[in-house]
Amino acid sequence: MKFHQARACVIERVTEARVMAPVEEVVLESAAGRVLAENVLADRDLPVLARSVRDGFAVHAEDVPGTLRMVGEVRAGGLFEGAVGSGEAVEIMTGAPVPRGANAVVMVEHVTRGSDGSVTTDRVAESGQFINPQGCEARAGEALLTPGKRLGFADIALLATVGKAQVAVYAQPRVALLATGDEIVGVTDQPREFQIRNSNVYSLAAQVARAGGIPEILPVAKDEYEDTRRLLERGLASDLLLISGGVSAGKYDIVERVLADLGAEFFFDRVLIQPGQPLVFGRVRDKFFFGLPGNPASTMVTFELFARAAVGLLGGEMQVDLPVMAAPLTRDFRHKTGLTRFLPATICWTSAGPQLTPIGWRGSGDVPALTRANAFLVADEDRAEWKAGEWMQVLLK
Ligand code: AMP
Ligand code: MG
Repeated sequence: MKFHQARACVIERVTEARVMAPVEEVVLESAAGRVLAENVLADRDLPVLARSVRDGFAVHAEDVPGTLRMVGEVRAGGLFEGAVGSGEAVEIMTGAPVPRGANAVVMVEHVTRGSDGSVTTDRVAESGQFINPQGCEARAGEALLTPGKRLGFADIALLATVGKAQVAVYAQPRVALLATGDEIVGVTDQPREFQIRNSNVYSLAAQVARAGGIPEILPVAKDEYEDTRRLLERGLASDLLLISGGVSAGKYDIVERVLADLGAEFFFDRVLIQPGQPLVFGRVRDKFFFGLPGNPASTMVTFELFARAAVGLLGGEMQVDLPVMAAPLTRDFRHKTGLTRFLPATICWTSAGPQLTPIGWRGSGDVPALTRANAFLVADEDRAEWKAGEWMQVLLK
């Protein structure tokens, strides 16, 4: 299956089968990164009064250029009780409500003050200039945020703006992480020369947490039927099961067989990508699972491309997107067509604009190279070559 089809399959399957997570209340300070479970309405017009966006003088636009009589001052946090009449001006600060009568603000930089308290400007003013009209950002009662949105810092600001100190969010999905492999030992174990420390559950735990889930790390399963079955069944107590390793074509890759015996339905078990080709996605006992290939880069990349969307959707998100952009290459790039490749790269902003540089790596096991990357360049399956300076797609890491 091609990359886009596989991703669409994950989103479609999880969206249609998910039962919305329970709702809980959190305080504003803890709401960032959570998924909103209620409609948030404007409690009043935003802004509630017409406001000045400059320091200057509130005037009748028709009166300038000219000399005006100063009749008062209004600052942020104050209100000018009177009205600005013809030939008059009120000194106004940024953020202050525009007094009645005035229909423009002249910037303080464009005015000279007379010794008699008058102000003179030689500039014309357009009606409405430097004024944000009442309700121009939102009207009272308008829905500003809707359920299913993951709350970012601007959303938090909006919640505070409308006076919400507590907010309803969806419970975070619990995501079981099961590493498999006879060669895998614990982080604090002293590995023999043929053994490897278990890094995948830790990278996955970090990725799950960033995706809004709660990671639950299980003991490592041996490449042996009974042990794998017992631990897979344990993992099915969570909302989503992520398995690392054991899904390739090797003699001891038994994860798919065990899942099949547990009654699993498989939606795909190979995707035309690199790294991560042997990726498996399915459902068993009403729980979705991913069998992520065990090579660390494969595990990390397939999580970002597929499992992250499932975590988001199970957590109540309405829309799950990949953070993709494009940037010009600093050098030529070529690959063999047929697979969509996601390869470590750096993207940085230089005086010449964005620049994308592939990072040399020694294949899917090369974790050091991955730590040097801040992005994955995306090489389309149907194009073999990109010249330096040509734009290429990038997935942010
Ligand atoms: P597999 O997909 O089971 O064939 O695993 C492929 C390779 O990935 C193994 O040979 C290990 O080098 C590596 N690997 C598998 N599981 C882990 C893990 N939990 N942590 C780190 N590396 C792993
Ligand atoms: Mg293995």
